[in-house]
Amino acid sequence: MESSISRIAIDGPASSGKSTVGHRLAIALDYLYFDTGVLYRAVTWGALQHGVDTNDTEAALDVAKVLSIEVVPSDYDDGRKNTVLVDGTDATWELHTPNVDANVSGIARNAAIRRLLIDTQRDIGAAGRVVMIGRDIGTVVLPDADIKFYVTASAEERANRRYAEHQRNGVESDYAEILASIKARDHADMNREVAPLVAADDAYIIDTSDIGIAEVVAEMQRLIAKQHDNSHT
Ligand code: C5P
Repeated sequence: MESSISRIAIDGPASSGKSTVGHRLAIALDYLYFDTGVLYRAVTWGALQHGVDTNDTEAALDVAKVLSIEVVPSDYDDGRKNTVLVDGTDATWELHTPNVDANVSGIARNAAIRRLLIDTQRDIGAAGRVVMIGRDIGTVVLPDADIKFYVTASAEERANRRYAEHQRNGVESDYAEILASIKARDHADMNREVAPLVAADDAYIIDTSDIGIAEVVAEMQRLIAKQHDNSHT
């Protein structure tokens, strides 16, 4: 029987593991995996390429309006989950450099840019059979998602993971700087006026500090099955 749990929202802070578990979950369910962070990162990267200050509300919006962002399945075997083309250029890894990390908050707090990007996200959500990852999926983008998860972990554990990821990808970085950057991004994400990062009232909260990826995915599948059963009784 087709599961009644078709639109799955996963939110949480930077490097909490939400993308990794969301990707595994999407593969297990044969659903589309869509990480909405790449949209905010693509606009940030595009603005920086055009020499635009990401805190300049109007100029950044002008960039966002004309930028073409395509998220396509990847043929590469380099750890990417999708390929992101920004104005036709493969920017997949460039979207995850410390420079983009440091500038993305300016774009994320821009209400007009958020509105532009929300339309894209809702269109994808409307098609169903999707695992959508972000900060405001359960609260703003898909408030009527069939199930919501809020994935979190301590800032130190998240900095460890990001550092290991940079090492794997050959990106030079410093642990103390990553920890400071994660804390700064948490603060910006949780305290901005539009769509701040917060768990939806009806989200299942999962702390991944001390549990492995496989266990988290199994727990999510258990909760999805339970929710499906509940919706049929
Ligand atoms: O998830 P990721 O770290 O790639 O997201 C990058 C940034 O994009 C976040 O720090 C946040 O400011 C912003 N973002 C957002 N809403 C989303 C997804 C990401 O504001 N749904």
